[in-house]
Amino acid sequence: MDFSPSTQWNTKSDGHADTRHLTRATRFAYIGVTLFFFISLTWNLLVTPNSAAFISSLITLHLLVGGAFIGAIHHFRKKLLYEFRLRRSYETALHAEEEYLHQILDHVADGVAVFDVQGVPLYLNATAYHLFQSASPKPQLSIPEIKNKVFNAQGKRVLKNSELPQILALNGERVQGLELSLYDLDTNQRISLLANSQPLMGSDGHLEAVVVTYHDITASKRAESELRLAASAFEVPESMFITNHSGIIQHVNQEFSTMTGYKPDELVGSDSEILASEHHSNDFYVEMIKTLESAGRWEGELWCKRKDQKQQPLWAKITSIQTEKDKESYYLVSMVDLNTQYRKQNEMIARAYHDETTGLPNRTLLLDRLDQSLARSARSGVLGAVLSVEIDHFVNVNQTLGHLIADRLLKELAERLKRNVRRDDTLARSGDGQFTLILNEVASNQDIATQSAIAIAEKFKARISRPFHIFDHEVHVTSSIAISTFDGKNITTESVINQLDTTRKAAKEEGINSIRCFHPEMLSKVKRQLSIENDMRIALQRDQFSLFFQPKINVKNGQLSGAEALIRWKHPQQGYIDPSYFIPIAEENGLIEQLGEFVLREVCCRISIWQRSGLRVIPISINISAVQIRHDKFINSVNSILKETGVDPRYLEFEITESALEQNFVQIKRTIHSLKDQGIIISIDDFGTGYSNLSYLNEIVIDRLKIDQSFIYKLTEQKRKSPVAETIISLAHNFGMTTVGEGVETKAQFDFLRELGCDEAQGYFFCKPVSINIFSDLLKNPQVNRAS
Ligand code: C2E
Ligand code: CA
Ligand code: CA
Repeated sequence: MDFSPSTQWNTKSDGHADTRHLTRATRFAYIGVTLFFFISLTWNLLVTPNSAAFISSLITLHLLVGGAFIGAIHHFRKKLLYEFRLRRSYETALHAEEEYLHQILDHVADGVAVFDVQGVPLYLNATAYHLFQSASPKPQLSIPEIKNKVFNAQGKRVLKNSELPQILALNGERVQGLELSLYDLDTNQRISLLANSQPLMGSDGHLEAVVVTYHDITASKRAESELRLAASAFEVPESMFITNHSGIIQHVNQEFSTMTGYKPDELVGSDSEILASEHHSNDFYVEMIKTLESAGRWEGELWCKRKDQKQQPLWAKITSIQTEKDKESYYLVSMVDLNTQYRKQNEMIARAYHDETTGLPNRTLLLDRLDQSLARSARSGVLGAVLSVEIDHFVNVNQTLGHLIADRLLKELAERLKRNVRRDDTLARSGDGQFTLILNEVASNQDIATQSAIAIAEKFKARISRPFHIFDHEVHVTSSIAISTFDGKNITTESVINQLDTTRKAAKEEGINSIRCFHPEMLSKVKRQLSIENDMRIALQRDQFSLFFQPKINVKNGQLSGAEALIRWKHPQQGYIDPSYFIPIAEENGLIEQLGEFVLREVCCRISIWQRSGLRVIPISINISAVQIRHDKFINSVNSILKETGVDPRYLEFEITESALEQNFVQIKRTIHSLKDQGIIISIDDFGTGYSNLSYLNEIVIDRLKIDQSFIYKLTEQKRKSPVAETIISLAHNFGMTTVGEGVETKAQFDFLRELGCDEAQGYFFCKPVSINIFSDLLKNPQVNRAS
């Protein structure tokens, strides 16, 4: 069966005119012949009645009869021919009508198909043909093929005949609005169809055929989903609205409605002018429209008037859109609230450049401000200054009072300091317990600039030393301040920071509550430190370190009760270098661990030599640096040296300073307990000088307290007993500890100590630190004469 859209009708020429001409000529010839015979018959009968006349009359009669017969036949034939022609023209008209109908149907946008009762397609109009044809690679389509290509609305292949509309119609049902899908095999696109079917009944009431119409709803479905998509895209956190070309609002999103305070239906249909703010001049709007018309988009700060008539700054992007359909142009306006944007930006900047606890500028911002201050000073020639304010032993505050109180302290401290700072200057938090103040353009004269900076430092010190009341705690702190001035011309920000760091170290060395100003000599000191550092590494390799021993005396009987091992470094060029100088450097560069191991190994070796020599062995004290004891490897290192030398740990005494207990107390406590478990004696060195938070005495069992020399010195200085020394001794005894008086230089001091009940004494009065050989001799004679 041919499904071509329309079958051409043949309109062949029937030769009707020729036949007519031929018949007429024959007729005339026939009538002529008959007339000729009739005249000759009449002539023969009237003029010569003979046999010829008889023959002639016979012929005439025959001709007349034959003519009548032929005439009858001709008449009949003519009638038949007429009927045939009538019928033929009727059929032609019918065909033409059918073709006309087909042509009309072919121009119908919807697909129209006619199926017979078996479901065999009888007719497909052009749309239906193309619809199914495109879904099939074959030129001709059969019902099973149609079935295979037709899917239901969910995109599932329709398997059941009953689901096909034409079949449903065959069952006598009329189907309305059934959604179907076809897949265009060329483009692999899905075609959505809406099918209706109508059964065609014959005159006998039986089903003759089914007419199915297919309406292509692909475009509208796509448009619908695009619309849905567009609507969802419109509901973003950004404020958006659409106006037509005349500025009439067509659509607003929820965000915009919330921002302006207008309900969506109050805005839709209104002129966007209701949002125009007086913040902008008319010219501004004219320019904006010009740009929009020429470039198709505009972006910039746009103030908007809200329903409550308040003006709001926004960052707007306006885009001109032209719809495909109606070729109308619209404007899509999207806006970000600059108030929130500014606030967010400011918050971000604040967070990045400010300290969270105090709200002060952080180190990053400080460096930036210092850059600016240097530039100002370079321009004006007026010197600026920078002050580093460090809370003494801030770690202790943190550890003993907790972070909450420490943070609150920093906050209150910042507030106090801020009151002393000009608006033009910068106070920043530059470290844990550290603040930095930049003073812009202090004075043109160096001395005056320094004096002004010192005056501010004094004020700071005074403010800081006043007690703080935090959560029922009265907190007392002191500060050390380093000052550096700059002229901005010949110095970089980095150099100013280096100078300040150097000065801060110097202030720290000086002790708590100090103020130090930078001096160029300090830099040469730093340089010297660097070269010492280098030399120290070489010294370790070349055995330039040795040990001296300083005896300790039993106060009651004057007997040698122990000794302190003190490191000595004989520098090849500089001679003996003071341990108080190189030990802190070694602590900073990490060499202290190697130095510590050297001292411990050396002491252990000496003890075993003395033991082997049959000498009386007394406990030897070793100074353990805070940095050393905090190190994870410390215990292992001690254990391996003890194992290596086989020394009885009870002959070892470790002197640690209170500062060692300031950080990682839990770990230090564990280390000390482990040392004590092995039998090593633990004493606290320089007791009374550090941040004496004595609570650790409840947690760690300490054997001995070494009273710092400064308190011993006061025993004679003030011509009276030192209350501190006295307190330490009684405290120690109460805790079951013994005491050692350090730096005993005079008999008077020794006598005082004896009176106070001090257990041991150590100092130049008895013996200066001596070499191993001299000390070995001393061991042979344990009675130290001076004490007697
Ligand atoms: P320290 O632990 O307080 O040692 C006592 C210091 O006082 C020693 O100084 C000693 O020579 C000195 N001294 C002793 N008696 C008197 C006296 O009557 N008057 C005065 N004015 N001074 C006296 P030295 O040997 O110069 O050590 C200084 C500091 O270096 C030591 O103070 C200690 O902190 C550290 N140090 C010494 N050797 C070592 C060591 O092997 N390891 C560690 N980590 N530090 C050490
Ligand atoms: Ca010591
Ligand atoms: Ca000491």
